[in-house]
Amino acid sequence: RPDFEALQVSNLHAYYGESHILHGIEFEVRRGELITLLGRNGAGKTTTLRAILGLTGRRSGSVNLNGQEVIDWPTHRIAHLGVGYCPEERGIFASLSVEENLVLPPQVRSGGMSVEELYAMFPNLAERRKSQGTRLSGGEQQMLAMARILRTGANLLLLDEITEGLAPVIVQKLGDVLGALKTRGYTVILVEQNFRFAAPLADRHYVIEHGKVVECISREQLPSRMDALHQRLGV
Ligand code: ATP
Repeated sequence: RPDFEALQVSNLHAYYGESHILHGIEFEVRRGELITLLGRNGAGKTTTLRAILGLTGRRSGSVNLNGQEVIDWPTHRIAHLGVGYCPEERGIFASLSVEENLVLPPQVRSGGMSVEELYAMFPNLAERRKSQGTRLSGGEQQMLAMARILRTGANLLLLDEITEGLAPVIVQKLGDVLGALKTRGYTVILVEQNFRFAAPLADRHYVIEHGKVVECISREQLPSRMDALHQRLGV
């Protein structure tokens, strides 16, 4: 999937109505990297993902995707550049079966994974292919939500708290999947509370406080900056 090169976010401001939520967010991610957005509740992590996609109210600054400025673009055009979003609430169709959920997503680009490839990546879904969305466990729903995004052909994945409330064995599986996706050249922005899950996967961590990036910590810097990070996150 060579056509994603980089996302650069700079001086990003976003508003919900009159509330000014993001105050100049800055970060970047390159092809095949996985970065995290960390921060306490309400810091602005979800809003950052939504602002990249044009899903907040007014926004300003720069969202540069592969050299193209998209800050003024509508969401569907940004998605067509290969940006996939998995919101915290997952967004699968509860009344449809696993297989129906996988057949439905529109292809935003060529290169989306086939249903068979997705079953190979998520064997649990293959076993449950006839099951209705409502009958899936939380972990299976999360896998289905991710599989749907991979089906579209997106190669930049914006993932919001995908491990929340899931059993450790499922969390481990999701970690394996993210590792495999990185190897295949996918690029990932992970909003995550479970730092132990994110740390081994991430190239860099960006800590957000009050709508600003206050800290950027690379994998190499992490050991010496763990104390500072824990203090920031209040854990
Ligand atoms: P959490 O882990 O709690 O989701 P977060 O870092 O993702 O935290 P955001 O969801 O981005 O935080 O929220 C940032 C701020 O924006 C919060 O103060 C929140 O109350 C506010 N906010 C979020 N969504 C809306 C909305 N639709 N309308 C108005 N304010 C909102």
